[in-house]
Amino acid sequence: MKNFQYVRPTQQQAALETLAQDDKAMFIAGGTNLIDLMKRNVVLPEKLVDINRLPLRKIEPTSKGVRIGALASNSEVAEHPLIREKFPLLSQALISGASAQLRNMATVGGNMMQRTRCYYFYDAALPCNKRQPGSGCGALQGINSKHAIFGFSDKCIAVHPSDMCVALVALEATVLVTGPKGERQVPFKDFHRLPGEHPERDTNLEKNELILAVDIPASSFTQNVHYLKVRERASYAFALVSVAAALDLDKGTIRNARLAMGGVAHKPWRLMEAEKALVGKPVSEETFQQTAALAMQGAKAFEHNAYKLKLAPNAITQALKTAAGLS
Ligand SMILES: Cc1cc2nc3c(=O)[nH]c(=O)nc-3n(C[C@H](O)[C@H](O)[C@H](O)COP(=O)(O)OP(=O)(O)OC[C@H]3O[C@@H](n4cnc5c(N)ncnc54)[C@H](O)[C@@H]3O)c2cc1C
Repeated sequence: MKNFQYVRPTQQQAALETLAQDDKAMFIAGGTNLIDLMKRNVVLPEKLVDINRLPLRKIEPTSKGVRIGALASNSEVAEHPLIREKFPLLSQALISGASAQLRNMATVGGNMMQRTRCYYFYDAALPCNKRQPGSGCGALQGINSKHAIFGFSDKCIAVHPSDMCVALVALEATVLVTGPKGERQVPFKDFHRLPGEHPERDTNLEKNELILAVDIPASSFTQNVHYLKVRERASYAFALVSVAAALDLDKGTIRNARLAMGGVAHKPWRLMEAEKALVGKPVSEETFQQTAALAMQGAKAFEHNAYKLKLAPNAITQALKTAAGLS
């Protein structure tokens, strides 16, 4: 691990200015991802700007829903009574992630900014366009069992590892950020990027911007929701495939639906066509299987991840069944 400077400002403006002054400075929040990356020489900041003393930890109701500060820990969000009651999908997704100890340290902003778990990204001796643009993608012809089936490019086939973000994209959250040009709001679906020609950029957060909060609008998705995470062991493992399913039911008919997947693309993968197709349909296994088939259109596997082409539709069907109370 390389030496670095460490500063801990108490004012937001000072944090932004300190970051902007130094091209190799980075924010640090819980440190659960960044410190790992530094130890492995994957990311080499020369200065860490610790944001933990900024007042960004509140979780509070707003006239439109709830605002969650970027420094609220994953545990605080998951266990907050307002989140459990009004946004149980988010609570479920958070609790499925990492371990209790990690969730106590991990923050909302850090979770959104966490990097992929692709082996080629984590091993500084191997080629990776995300870590070192132009070096190639080792996973394309290599060990690609955990990799994308949607939205990849010939430069990168990595997936975004977050559970929380899958629920947030389904709940149509908005991200409040600030930076040299002032505050702006980014719809959650546009926060993360597909790799295209520039896999080194995971998100549309601009240089020197700070995430302040996430706003989630109130919705009717408070009861018939389910976050299904399929992984190699029961805890402390990233999703092979995950599904955030939320249904608004009128007796046996679907009035409205939200559906998103994790572990399948470079960003949380919202399934809007499948959502639309669910509206007006009866709650049934057949409806959910048809939705899953629609959701999988355009999916493509690599040498070692073809199992996801079967796992993903099964997971969608199962998540929708559980959300609807059918299983
Ligand atoms: C063993 C292990 C298992 C895990 N399992 C899961 C899992 O199953 N599911 C899951 O979703 N996650 C999992 N994680 C990842 C974990 O959720 C993330 O490490 C954590 O959310 C990162 O948050 P942090 O506050 O620690 O971020 P940090 O490590 O402090 O920072 C991460 C990145 O975010 C940036 N950043 C932080 N805050 C802000 C901000 N406010 N504005 C702008 N940039 C910011 C930092 O500059 C850095 O680039 C796991 C991690 C580990 C180590």
